[in-house]
Amino acid sequence: MSVKEIAKNDFTRFVGTLIRTEKVFGVQAKGDRFDFAPLESAQDLRLDYDVTLQPPKKYFLPPAEVLLTYQVGGPYQSQLDGQEFILLGVHPYDMVAINQMDELFQQDNYDTHYMTRRHNATIIACDVAKPSDHVFASSMGTAVVKKGYDILLTDIGDSFVAEAATPKGEQLLAKAKGAAADAQALKKREDIWARNKKSLNKHELKCDPAYLPKVLAKAYKHPVWEEKAKTCFSCGSCNQVCPTCYCFNVQDDVNWDLKTGQRLREWDGCLLDGFTKVAPAHEFRKARADRFRHRLYRKATYVPQKLGGQIACVGCGRCVGACLPDIANPVNIYNRLIDDLGIG
Ligand code: SF4
Ligand code: SF4
Repeated sequence: MSVKEIAKNDFTRFVGTLIRTEKVFGVQAKGDRFDFAPLESAQDLRLDYDVTLQPPKKYFLPPAEVLLTYQVGGPYQSQLDGQEFILLGVHPYDMVAINQMDELFQQDNYDTHYMTRRHNATIIACDVAKPSDHVFASSMGTAVVKKGYDILLTDIGDSFVAEAATPKGEQLLAKAKGAAADAQALKKREDIWARNKKSLNKHELKCDPAYLPKVLAKAYKHPVWEEKAKTCFSCGSCNQVCPTCYCFNVQDDVNWDLKTGQRLREWDGCLLDGFTKVAPAHEFRKARADRFRHRLYRKATYVPQKLGGQIACVGCGRCVGACLPDIANPVNIYNRLIDDLGIG
């Protein structure tokens, strides 16, 4: 596959061409923050961003969607939008999260809606140029990514190194003006990878993430859950901004004619009161401390059991910034447990 060096003004022209011919979502400034949004001008693209408000998972698992519509006595109609699109500017930690979701949404029950959107996407990832205030991807081994994307961009100063990783990426990259990256450009990229592996670490985990399930195996009755939960608002913000949270609720919405309706899927969150409510009005994780603990166990025990040990926290740091009482930081909690319980 090609590895090109593309001058920045040629890259802007390339993005302009993409916008004219494809549906493109890219990272843009929203005041002094950043987010993914439909890209209408190449000048609006900000690959120097620190972190986006929302992770790119919304393009594969929308916050709310109609899965199907139905009518009494008739067949149902699937409501799947099959449009192809380009996602431009995905950071490595978010790419790792998407790779995890790809595995989860194919396990046991193949999720046609998620997987169709995933197949319709061309992902142009980019290495982090500016660390955010709370990122800890270096601690989680997600500062650099080697798979999942179609093209990987690295800003090396006046130009980008762009590497195609799939036939789709190769085809797209052929449209960009640029020469094969030389040894000097590749060395600059290696240096950036080496730097990011260390520097995206505003909160440092005290152990290799692989040990976290062992720590948690001893922590179920630890007082930290009650202590932290005392100030938790159950707002669910930590779930909503997380690139690896994928819980959803499905419900049928019957129209007033009582003959037609739609099946809706919406994001849910394990911190929300009511998340575990089942008929007849029983809630099996009613205590706030139990819900608080569940989130941390899900990241470092329950999901890893499904993913061959991969920890389902990629260190984006979004939950740290989103939590008003400042209790959501996984590193603070895991480090406290490591201090109290050890790692073995
Ligand atoms: S738990 Fe927090 S830091 Fe970890 S992936 Fe989710 S939002 Fe990011
Ligand atoms: S931990 Fe923080 S962000 Fe999460 S539900 Fe509680 S208050 Fe909200």
